[in-house]
Parts: sequence; C-alpha cells; structure tokens
Amino acid sequence: MKKESLNIETRLVHGSKGGDVHTGAISFPIYQSATFKHPAVNESTGYDYSRVQNPTREELENTIAALEGGTAGFAFSTGMAAIATVFHLFSSGDHIIVSDDLYGGTYRLFEEICKKNGMEFSYIDTRNIENVYQSVKSNTRGIFIETPSNPMMKVTDIEAFSKFAKTNNIVFIVDNTFLTPYFQRPLALGADIVLHSGTKYLGGHNDTLAGFVVVKEEKMKEKIELLHKTIGAVLAPFDCWLILRGIKTLGIRMEKQQENAIKIANWLRGKEQVEKVYYVGLQDHEGYAVSQKQATGFGAMISFVVKKAALAEKILKNVKVISFAESLGGVESLITYPITQTHASIPEEIRKGLGIDEGLLRLSVGIEDVNDLINDLEQAIKGEE
Ligand SMILES: *Cc1c(COP(=O)(O)O)cnc(C)c1O
Repeated sequence: MKKESLNIETRLVHGSKGGDVHTGAISFPIYQSATFKHPAVNESTGYDYSRVQNPTREELENTIAALEGGTAGFAFSTGMAAIATVFHLFSSGDHIIVSDDLYGGTYRLFEEICKKNGMEFSYIDTRNIENVYQSVKSNTRGIFIETPSNPMMKVTDIEAFSKFAKTNNIVFIVDNTFLTPYFQRPLALGADIVLHSGTKYLGGHNDTLAGFVVVKEEKMKEKIELLHKTIGAVLAPFDCWLILRGIKTLGIRMEKQQENAIKIANWLRGKEQVEKVYYVGLQDHEGYAVSQKQATGFGAMISFVVKKAALAEKILKNVKVISFAESLGGVESLITYPITQTHASIPEEIRKGLGIDEGLLRLSVGIEDVNDLINDLEQAIKGEE
C-alpha cells in the first residue's frame, strides 16, 4: 500500500521510513554521529557530515515534507533559525509584504536584522487582499503571513494570496505553526514555502526547540538546501527524534486541544469580566468562513481581553493548573501576556493599533480535562486581590 494513500492520522504515526529497516526497531534510531566513513574515494553511504545530512534528521524532514504535501523538508534548531534562513533568499533592495500581526521574534528579525541588510517591509492587515494591491511595489519579492495570526487570530485567505503572488512573481511564505499540517496545508493552496516553529504543536510537549521549512518546487528546494547546510542552524539528531515522537500523537493532541478550546472560548464569552474573545472556531469570528474554506480545524489558540488590566495580572498570578509561561502548542496549557512577553519587541504605538494592550491574554489550550481548566480560570478570575 502506498504511504500517500493513507490518512493523515496513520501517516503521522508511521513517519516516512517509520522504524529501522536493518534491525526492525519500531522507533527510528538516533544517529548520534557528526561524521560518516567513506567506503572509497568518490563513494559515500549517502551521508558525509551531519550538518549536511543525518539519517535521523532525514527521517524527520521526509516526514514533515510528506505531511505538508511538499517535495522537501528542512529541520532547523528553532523556528527563528528557519525564518532567518529563508530570509537569506532576499537581498538588499527587496521589498517584502508582511502580516501586521505576527510573532514578536519574527518582527524583531525583520526590523533589527533584515532592514539593516537593506530589505524593506510593509506591514499590512492581510485579512483584506486589497491592502496587498495597494502596497505592492516593483521591487516586491516576498509576502510573509501567519494565519491565524499571533496573537489577534486574524485569518488570511491563502488561496487568494497565492494567486496574487504567482501572477506577480512573488515568493509566498506561510508560517503554519498555529494549525500544523493536521489542520491546514498551505502548499496545496498555492504557497511556495511553509514555515514552522516545531517547538509548538509538532513537538507538542514543551520540551524541545525546533523549526521547519517545507517547499514544493525543485528550484526552491535547491536554494533552501544550500542555505540550510551553509548557514548551519540544523536540528540535532536527538531533538529530531523527540520531534518525530511528538508528531506521532499530533492528530489526537490537535483534536483534544481543539475540543477543549471550543469549550473554553464559549465559557470565556459568557463571563462578564471578559470583554472580547478571539477564537477562530467561534462562528461569529470574522475569519470563520475563510477558515472553513481553507482548513479542516480551528486549532487551540485563544486570545481574550479582560475589562481591567489589574484583572489580567491577577489571572496570571492566580492560575494553578494553567502555567503563566511563554510558548504554545504543548500538552500543558499555557497563558501568556503578549504585551510584556511574546510581543514586547513590537513598539507600543503599533501594538496598541493592533489591540495588544494591558487587557489582552493569550491562552494555549492543552490536553488536560477541560473542566479542570475552566475551574482554574474561574478561581483565577475570582482570586484574592
Ligand atoms: C514560536 C513561534 C516562532 C518562533 O519559533 P522558535 O521555535 O521559538 O524559534 C515563529 N512563529 C510562530 C507563529 C511562533 O509561534
């Protein structure tokens, strides 16, 4: 039976090769070796040096490539390493159009590093494609989006953007961290490059940093291959194995996390202390229809606004089951305060415009019992002053 004909739940569990063909080991081996012996001059086992390729990393890269429907995957030491490497595709004088709401570290990369190297950026609200038509220039070479975006959960129409990018010869890049290939496959909708922080849902256990790039076209594959091995921010064999193990349970984790998130989003909406709930899976979320068209799920990220800044601080101090910690996507529920944590590097003026203020909290819903999570939020909202 062809692997491609299997359903995603099965492919997640079975990886690319799956186990070890030599020993029958069900778990793919960790090849903890920096270098590989050559049989003779001009001969190779297929592996030379682990920065270039390592068998454990290759298994992980082939797994993520297949899940995203790409032809090649690349594993990086972190999500930021993946994004930074991809931006070496561009040169001084290139203009890039970017979602105005995005991960703070990505924003910092563009503002502090890429700009210094001569690239120009336009930050736009990508919910409306008209904004792209208005901001495109003769030197626009790339479009970079997150959908849903972080932390405001704005949804971008991937297919519409792909069409525009294709006609204008622009590289279209999608950060798919929030939904993962389990729920959304941007390459099938026309994107050129998919990026991930593998630290989040793919790893899934808040224990390993990782990043991914997946591409579909041969030319792009060659370009990324060169950057990956040359810049060298590759993922170590043991970490590759941890992410491979994480991916096996991605399906059941995403389902459970989403189920919990829907219940929590609805519960939060009924609380008088909560002013607004941003969750893509709520039917009155303005991106609901586009989400339904392009994704098979809504994920498990919720942002919500409480009426008083003091209440936000109280919740962060009083949660007991949920941890007040950065990051997202793991089995443990985490709550963050974007204004001082993930989005601290975004200037106040821009942050305010987006709605990232003292009342905004971002919740990554885990796999715990949903009533325990709701009770925890309830007691944190009540809490002692
Ligand atoms: C966390 C995150 C990143 C950065 O990934 P790291 O693994 O922390 O380097 C990039 N994009 C999004 C959407 C993220 O959530």
